Formats: sequence, structure tokens, C-alpha cells
Amino acid sequence: MTLGNTFHNEYAIEGRVYLSPTGNLEPARLEWNALGKIERIVRLDTRSNDLPVILPGFIDEHVHGAQGHDVMEATIESWDAIGQGLARHGVTGFLATTISALTPEIHKVMECARNYPRHPQSNLVGLHWEGPYIDPAFKGAQPLEAIRPVDISEIEKLLGECHEDMVPVRLMTVAPNLPLSGPLIRWLRARGIHVNLGHTGARRDETLEAVKDGADGITHLFNGMAGLHHRHPRMVGTALTEESLWLELITDGIHIHPEVIRLVFHVAAPRVILVTDGISATDCAPGQHKLGKWLVSVDEHSARLEDGTLAGSILSADQSVRNLLQWGIPLRQIVHSWCESPAKRFGLMEYGRIERGYFADLVELDPEYRVLRTLKHGKSIT
Ligand SMILES: [Zn+2]
Repeated sequence: MTLGNTFHNEYAIEGRVYLSPTGNLEPARLEWNALGKIERIVRLDTRSNDLPVILPGFIDEHVHGAQGHDVMEATIESWDAIGQGLARHGVTGFLATTISALTPEIHKVMECARNYPRHPQSNLVGLHWEGPYIDPAFKGAQPLEAIRPVDISEIEKLLGECHEDMVPVRLMTVAPNLPLSGPLIRWLRARGIHVNLGHTGARRDETLEAVKDGADGITHLFNGMAGLHHRHPRMVGTALTEESLWLELITDGIHIHPEVIRLVFHVAAPRVILVTDGISATDCAPGQHKLGKWLVSVDEHSARLEDGTLAGSILSADQSVRNLLQWGIPLRQIVHSWCESPAKRFGLMEYGRIERGYFADLVELDPEYRVLRTLKHGKSIT
């Protein structure tokens, strides 16, 4: 064993390990079994700060693409490429996120989800349908021609084609101010699908009604919704105080001001779920890139439609960690929001924590929090 260098052993890793029960980084060696489950955590007697940092792998419930590929391409190759691209940024679990699309395109996505080969090293853990039942007035970069009134029979048909071994639909984003959104939310929840409220001008009463119906999260809080006003709390203000809602945050420093990020952590840290809302252009050179059917212009920091509307992000999970640390958010809140909270929300038992009995889904980073490698069930996927 050489301290100061990356430690290599097929069933172990050493570094300053984030120990979930305490939320501290401690020099330690993690050992796992052939199934990739952590069996032993051995403390190391060193004060070296050059050791790599080991965190639980990140889980991104809202990401549209990476490495030049978009989820709406709906091919096994494109989804593999997205998974690999995200793994390079420490992501060990993600929900392939659609945008509003016409029925044949959604069927194509479902067909790919049915055929996608599932194996323990895959970081694709589910689908997130973002739309198409959203409020056209808050569509963001979603294509207007695909946004439509709630149609439960359409969803029923799509889910009727599902089978147990396929990539499951775990989450849908719905606007709660549309007619029939209540029955839709109840219908989805009855089938174990989580519901985010988003892309909506919903008022406080409409938001509370949707929560009663079973909605349990908010899609990219502050973005794609009416802003917070001290006399009109609307959905944002309601979400900040409503304890049953998970809150997605995009932390590229462009979608939300860092001071507002600090505010959200101050009032609701245990409910924050960090996401990238990343698109195909993540890790690509500036220029024109795809988001569903759109072409978006990408510079070093953001992706926008022609009129300047933000179109997803080009944020990576590890960049989000570096941003948040720089803005003074404690590491334990960051890890909680990238790992433990999404695992808990989706019932991904034995994921999201570094603890005995949990899977060795890990990200190894250098002391500046740049990813060195990512492990899924104890095996490198980078
Ligand atoms: Zn999105």
C-alpha cells in the first residue's frame, strides 16, 4: 500500500472516505465482497491530506443527455454513451429524462427502456418523464407543439406496455394547474411513480392540492415557475415550507444565484435533491447541440435557445460539488443531496451511503474534487 497514491486492489479502496453515519471524511480502507457490498471499513493511521477523497456515487434524477447524445434518440447505444459520460463525473445512478414529445416518440423511448440490457454495472436506474402535461406559459425549452392537456389514457397505454425487468418509469413532472392533473397525480402514485411539480405557474392553493393528491417533489425549483413574491408565495414559497416535498436544484451558478442556493439549504437541506438537468452538450465543445428536436447554442457555461431561454445545463455532478463547496455549503449536505436523498426517495435500498452492507457505488476524487474514477458495485465504470 502506498499512501498518497491511488490504492489498487480489486475489492478495496483507500482514501479519505466519507463515512455516512458521521458525515466526516476519515482516512480509511473500504473492503467489499464479490457482490460489491461493503463488508469492512478499516480506519487508517495517517494524517495525509493527499489521499483521494471517496464519496458515495452521485444519483441524478434529472438529466437529458451527455457526450453528444440525447435520451430522446432512444437507442441502446445512445443511452450507453450517456451512462458512460455521466460515470466520468461520478454518477452511479441516473434517471434518463425525456422532454415533451409526441406519442410515437414517447413510444420509442419506452421500447428502448424495454430492450435496454440491465446489468449490475449499469448506472441507468430509471426514466423521468418531464412533460408533456405542462403549462405552456412556463415551458422553458420544451417544444410547444408537443405540450398537451392531461390524457390519462395515453399514460395508461404507455405503462401497459411495461414489464418488470425493464428500465422503470420512476418519476413524472406534471404541472398542477392543468385540468385533470389531480387524477393523473393520484393515478401515477397508485402505480408507484413519483411526481414532481414543474413547468407551471401554479398558485399556492393549486400546489397544496397536488401535494394532497400525492405529488412529492418539485422539478428544478425556481426555474420554469412563477417567482417567489412576499405577498404571493406561489409554488416556490409553498415548496420551501411544505415538508413532504423533495426540491430539485440546479447548481451551475447560472440557473439560481448562489445566495439563493444557500437560502434553500438553510431552510430545507434534508429535502434538497441536486440535479444537473444536463443535456447532450455536456463535455462537448461550444457550438450547436441537440436537446430533443431542438438545436441549442452552447458556450462555456450554459445552453440556450435562440431567444436566450436556458435549455437545460451543461453542468456535471462533480462541478456542482466544487461549486457548492466554494459557496460554503457543508460537504455533508452536498453528499446527502447528491446521494442519500435520491436513493431514499426512489427506494434504492443499500445505495447512497458508505456504510457496511451498502453497495460500493463510489466516486474517487482528487483533493480538488476532480473525478479519478467511479465504481459501481465495486467495479470501475470509468
Ligand atoms: Zn429538464
